[in-house]
Amino acid sequence: MQTWSDAKVPDLFAAHTDVPVLVENDANLVAISEMSEAEDSHNDYFLAVLLGRRIGSGLVADGKLLRGFNGAAGEFSHTPVAGPSVISCVCSLESCLESVASGAAIAARLSELGYSVDIPSDIIALGRSGDPRVLSILREAGAQIGTVLASSVNFFNPRRVVLGGALSQSAPLAAAIRAELFQKCLPVAAQDLDVSAVADPDTAGARGALRLLLDEVLAPARIDELARVALEESAQSA
Ligand SMILES: [Zn+2]
Repeated sequence: MQTWSDAKVPDLFAAHTDVPVLVENDANLVAISEMSEAEDSHNDYFLAVLLGRRIGSGLVADGKLLRGFNGAAGEFSHTPVAGPSVISCVCSLESCLESVASGAAIAARLSELGYSVDIPSDIIALGRSGDPRVLSILREAGAQIGTVLASSVNFFNPRRVVLGGALSQSAPLAAAIRAELFQKCLPVAAQDLDVSAVADPDTAGARGALRLLLDEVLAPARIDELARVALEESAQSA
């Protein structure tokens, strides 16, 4: 969000509490969760794609989260695409992927056709109903996401693409993304590529946040600091 681009978000919270404040992007939290639960996390190489109201992604290379120079790594959803946008987007591009194929855009398209869509599970339920008009919207959105994602996969060459967020549970959407990926990616990028959904999309972000917190609290420097404070307190009370 342009008006927030220079805001130091942790500082805004830190002014109201004495506890450490950590702030992280939602797609990065899904990536952290996925990384911490992988069998060989040190060599992990993947893209975690968050399919919710908006679209985001977290990049992990050699078991490390890549945030980019300004923290904007993985923002592939603001790539211009063909097709009319149905929602406005903070990036101000006329037709970015997010304004054309995100969960909010899918909901807007369905609402235009008279369907009642309040929460992501409404979209998933409508997809399961087999209604051809709904399936067409989901498949088209999945194809557009997959096309843009294919460029990222060609560029980044991950071992796996992990789909997270509520809409990762939409079979027609996920199948269209997968089909487009394997159709559009270079053979060398696609030959070992694994495309799967996170185990529990409802809690992946929270599990990532918990891991981030544990790593921060249990970091050697912080343990040393806690030990120093404890020693000082015991010396004072003695
Ligand atoms: Zn955008």
